[in-house]
Amino acid sequence: MNLRIPGPTPLPPDVIEAVGQQMINHRGPEFETMFAEITDALKLFFETKNDLYILTSSGTGSMEAAIVNTLSPGDRVLAVTIGVFGERFAEIARAYGADVVQMSYEMGKAANPAEVAEKIRAEGPFSAVLFTQNETSTGVTNDVEALAKTIHEAADPSPLILVDGISGVGAIRLRTDAWGVDVVVSGSQKAWMAPPGLAFISFSPKAWEAYAKAKMPRFYFDLGDAKKYAQRNQTPATPAVSVLYGLQVSLRNMLAEGVDGTIARHESIGDYCRKGVQELGLGLFAEPGHYSNTVTAVTLPEGMSASKTLSALRKQYNIVAGSTKAPGVEMIRIGHMGYVSTADLDQVFDALRELLAERG
Ligand SMILES: *Cc1c(COP(=O)(O)O)cnc(C)c1O
Repeated sequence: MNLRIPGPTPLPPDVIEAVGQQMINHRGPEFETMFAEITDALKLFFETKNDLYILTSSGTGSMEAAIVNTLSPGDRVLAVTIGVFGERFAEIARAYGADVVQMSYEMGKAANPAEVAEKIRAEGPFSAVLFTQNETSTGVTNDVEALAKTIHEAADPSPLILVDGISGVGAIRLRTDAWGVDVVVSGSQKAWMAPPGLAFISFSPKAWEAYAKAKMPRFYFDLGDAKKYAQRNQTPATPAVSVLYGLQVSLRNMLAEGVDGTIARHESIGDYCRKGVQELGLGLFAEPGHYSNTVTAVTLPEGMSASKTLSALRKQYNIVAGSTKAPGVEMIRIGHMGYVSTADLDQVFDALRELLAERG
């Protein structure tokens, strides 16, 4: 099967082999060595010297951890949303009682840094600003560097910056420290080529200052506990050991390619996908200049149904692409993060070419 959804992503053969290994004691020395290696490798891709914790949960758990460890009920939060996952970040903050001001962009658009800064000046102060690095639902990548810079400049003290990098980090550049991003989260089943089940969160010294005052209820995702256990390279509760086995192998492969190499490969596969789509006469949903290098949202011609196209891809070609909804547009998404080759994408283009020809 050619799994072309934007997560879970296909596993390389050596990762599949690794996840099938026998269990070890998660309080024992072998575990501690593995956990330290993985944490250090993740920090290289997050481009951070901040603390980084590995949580056993899907990516959403790390978004929740970002909120509950830095904020209190009633805190004013600016949620900049450009799609479904930005909405989710805002919803989590609301669920825990934050006073959320939501700034929503039309699907397909990226956030405008100058407008975000203006909003902060006009309606601030805010305790935190939340946004998505790579909006998987629309195939749009925000300019995290420019957003972080203008947010820092818009208020003194600057609000905390919490970024959902779940489908970006490990494939699309995010210089956590250099750009001053306080909290960045990601998930194992996206660019990391590991199974679902682990989430990652980097946490700056300023985020720790906020933690000391944060009153939102938390237990499983309390990073104070994660910090205590991380000193021994352990986790407070039993972690997803098998996923860690896989992640260790995929991170070794990623490091062999290097951080820059991994990012460059995604730029190149992203370009390849967009070119292939456009050569078929299909459209790109994302705003030019903000195309995602991990997922492409493809708009279909008038009268061509997304659900029928997805079902034909699956039944006739054994290709599983992603669905997504935006008002008034029929589109599908092609994932191209992690373990993906141009041949995988060629298969998708060939299938789409045939389906388009059948329609006449
Ligand atoms: C996949 C994804 C999530 C949700 O992750 P889960 O692992 O499904 O909880 C959140 N944000 C973004 C940008 C994603 O791509």
